[in-house]
Amino acid sequence: MRTAICPGSFDPVTKGHLSVITRASKLFDRVIVVVMINPKKPVGCFAPERRVEFIERCVKDLPNVEVDFYDGLLAEYARIKKADAIVKGLRAVSDFEDEFQQALTNKQLNPDVETVFVTAGADYMYLSSSIVKQVCELGGDVSDFVPEQVLDDIVKGIRRKED
Ligand code: ADP
Repeated sequence: MRTAICPGSFDPVTKGHLSVITRASKLFDRVIVVVMINPKKPVGCFAPERRVEFIERCVKDLPNVEVDFYDGLLAEYARIKKADAIVKGLRAVSDFEDEFQQALTNKQLNPDVETVFVTAGADYMYLSSSIVKQVCELGGDVSDFVPEQVLDDIVKGIRRKED
């Protein structure tokens, strides 16, 4: 039984994230998507429980995928879950340096876990949660960027923050 973890802020989940999660679900027996708090990022737009709930709705047709929240070190979470791999998406060269540093650090903290990178789908190379928030705040259509199951709630949530 091979277990992979897909970590991230997911504030909120995008079609780019979903593409990475779907591909991980084909490569591994069990995939745990874990919402984490990134101290380098400003306070999130959505509460962690909401982010978890949005992802759960998007993966309900993927039987080997589960969703969790963890407020701690990824290497430690991987140890608790006996994970074999951490799966991350790489968009452009700009993602590389930070991801490389994180992968080496996680390897040092937990030698039992490998980091595996999958490339972003060509349609989602430019896509990030921040882009979704920016476009949405300015009244733009984000239906190409966000999974349909959660589109309305994400749009309402982002625009409510403006009121
Ligand atoms: P983080 O806080 O680690 O940047 P994110 O929620 O932004 O977390 O992303 C989680 C993971 O999904 C990261 O590995 C990131 O590189 C990847 N990712 C985000 N957007 C995309 C995308 N459009 N295509 C592929 N991978 C993506």
